[in-house]
Amino acid sequence: MLISHEAIEILKEKFGKKCQLNLALAPFTTAQVGGPAKVLITVNNRESLIDAIKFCWENDLPYKILGSGSNVLVHEDGFNGVVILNRSKNIVCNIDKNPPEIYVESGANLSLVARKAALVGIAGLEWAATIPGTIGGAIYGNAGAHQSDMSHNLILVEILQQLSEPVYWNVEQMEYSYRCSVLKRKPQKAVILSAILKGFRDNPEEIQKRTKTFINYRKKTQPTGASMGSMFKNPPGDFAGRLIESAGLKGTSVGGVTVSSIHANFFLNSERATSNDYLKLIQLVQKTVYEKFEVNLDLEIELVGFPEQSSQNFQSGTIRL
Ligand SMILES: Cc1cc2nc3c(=O)[nH]c(=O)nc-3n(C[C@H](O)[C@H](O)[C@H](O)COP(=O)(O)OP(=O)(O)OC[C@H]3O[C@@H](n4cnc5c(N)ncnc54)[C@H](O)[C@@H]3O)c2cc1C
Repeated sequence: MLISHEAIEILKEKFGKKCQLNLALAPFTTAQVGGPAKVLITVNNRESLIDAIKFCWENDLPYKILGSGSNVLVHEDGFNGVVILNRSKNIVCNIDKNPPEIYVESGANLSLVARKAALVGIAGLEWAATIPGTIGGAIYGNAGAHQSDMSHNLILVEILQQLSEPVYWNVEQMEYSYRCSVLKRKPQKAVILSAILKGFRDNPEEIQKRTKTFINYRKKTQPTGASMGSMFKNPPGDFAGRLIESAGLKGTSVGGVTVSSIHANFFLNSERATSNDYLKLIQLVQKTVYEKFEVNLDLEIELVGFPEQSSQNFQSGTIRL
């Protein structure tokens, strides 16, 4: 479904300067890759997020919610629909609840939430302090690190489905598994508006110490530079990074993208990489690892703006050169 001129005019009127046309998405992604969105709407609070999404649903417009763009590879041709850039970021910590709770809007930055919680003595989110995504992206993909993940902290998530009133799901309803939720597994009309997270009480200095240990570990083991973090999920009982390294692929480049020599599961945009460079390197790595170890590497990242079938094939590691 294409966006009509009329729909664009209504969006411009509704969202004013927050509605931009044909804007490149690369600067809104951590890999710095991707062509323009037909329409880009920036929402700064929960209400405008609801407004924007309902408009897309009512008018049957293709849409994509973008948080920090840290887990997506956007096609060079961009996205021929409405991209809703979620910047709703209210955070309220309540240390008096038992267990202590944090209310967060879905566009809040995950590491900022962890730091704010730590300052008031709410522990349990230290694992999240180094992840560059939003709460929405983290709840959607069950982001995690250091033996923890979103499923350990989530109490309730507020979800808008179809055109009804928002509903609250508990952690069981999210059907979490490794880096996955029911929303990611079975794509559907559902948007994460806000959430209530839990932690536990601890001395802010102790929390800070643990956070620093994680930050230092990251600095030692992961590269800086434009990337999407881990490209592939770890296969059962192994590590994607270990397999890629053992296949001799560290430092391998295609066009402007390179397999990091520090962590082989990070693909760095080292020199104006295109989405096509990324795809070629993904294919090369999947093929080489399969030939050497008979292991399929499934994408952890998501493809945006790609034809649906090729997205599915890449996601499950079934495309080979
Ligand atoms: C340097 C680096 C390190 C990283 N380290 C880790 C790590 O340790 N652990 C880890 O798990 N990940 C890691 N990541 C990946 C990434 O940060 C996480 O997956 C993060 O949770 C993605 O959030 P986002 O806001 O960037 O999502 P986006 O990339 O913007 O979107 C990802 C998906 O979530 C959907 N989505 C986003 N918001 C909503 C919403 N409100 N409602 C419904 N759907 C939504 C999008 O539509 C899209 O399908 C890393 C990335 C980088 C660049």
